[in-house]
Amino acid sequence: KAVRLVGILQDITERKQAEEALRVSEERYRLVVENAAEAIVVAQDNMLKFYNTKTMEMTGYSEEDLNYRSFIELIHPEDRQMVVERHKRRLERKDVPSEYIFRVIAKHGSIRWVEISSVVITWEGRPATLNILRDVTEHKQLTGKLVEYEELDRMKTNLLSTVSHELRTPLAAIKGYIGMILEYETKLKRDRKRSFLQSADNAADRLTSLIELLLDMSKLDAGLLKLDREETDIGMLTEIVVTEAGFRQPDRIIRVERSDDQLTAEVDVKRFRQVLDNLINNALQYSSHESEVLVSADRRKSKIMVCVTDKGIGIPADELDKVFQRLYRSERRPSIEPGGLGLGLAISKGLVEAHGGRIWAKSALSKGSTFCFTIPTTVKKRK
Ligand code: ADP
Repeated sequence: KAVRLVGILQDITERKQAEEALRVSEERYRLVVENAAEAIVVAQDNMLKFYNTKTMEMTGYSEEDLNYRSFIELIHPEDRQMVVERHKRRLERKDVPSEYIFRVIAKHGSIRWVEISSVVITWEGRPATLNILRDVTEHKQLTGKLVEYEELDRMKTNLLSTVSHELRTPLAAIKGYIGMILEYETKLKRDRKRSFLQSADNAADRLTSLIELLLDMSKLDAGLLKLDREETDIGMLTEIVVTEAGFRQPDRIIRVERSDDQLTAEVDVKRFRQVLDNLINNALQYSSHESEVLVSADRRKSKIMVCVTDKGIGIPADELDKVFQRLYRSERRPSIEPGGLGLGLAISKGLVEAHGGRIWAKSALSKGSTFCFTIPTTVKKRK
């Protein structure tokens, strides 16, 4: 039996060629988009409609994390309103900066700074934004560092001029008094000579303490400050430091209040004295002669808290944190200007923190200030 086959032959070479051309061109687009160094994202109705591989690399999110996700969730809460508003304005073809920077919350909560530039396109028949996102986190960090360095540089220049001025003052006094003794040696009475020598000696002490402050600051900076800790009765030590301050300033009243608790901590005694001395000296300097200074030592949970309170000129609220910055000196000075480098509190902060404690100030203008610091108590080791 003969079988007859009926068929139509059609030349499909052209269609095949067209399909092949389309495949090649799609492949090329895919190659370009997938290998782009920037994240490419299409957003519509606040949703991510398309994104390339770089988007996943940049944010650390997987396809599952990103699909059908509202892009708003990926924006740092503080930048959300701005980005959403700009996205909306762009779609309405209103004026929006062509490029701007915002923060993206990447996987595990880390923050990336991105620079975005967007245009409006038609996506599935409706307007959408096509966004190119560039990760500028490192650039941002570098700029931050640069600002820090500039700040440091400014501080260095500032430090040099303040330091040379402050060092020159006692040096001039020493030179002056010694010069007078040399010049009028035979004519000067014994008492007078002695008082000149005493003044030169005081100025030399002042010079030494300024140089020590500078050395301490640079040791703290370089992380070279070593603490020589030993178990110490802080209540007792506080009382000793106050008594000595009283000897130095016999015309002032400095009162101590300490709790009956045993207050022991492992501290570097010399450094503890330095901090407390600094606070007491400031309290005396920035308050009137008649007013008293109160020093207290108490237990606060697992810490010992030492406070120095004066009834002096006080510190405005916006300066309270700044007084712990190096070289910071308030514009408001008492009538008798106490000289200083503005390093004392910065060093005290460094020393307290090296002991694992904290230092802070409370104050009311014209009423007085309280400076407090904590030191962790010794935890008794179990035998
Ligand atoms: P210095 O006393 O050398 O200026 P400090 O670092 O000890 O440096 O203090 C920084 C600044 O903080 C002072 O110049 C002063 O303006 C302010 N200050 C410190 N202690 C007090 C205080 N008890 N009362 C008012 N102001 C204070």
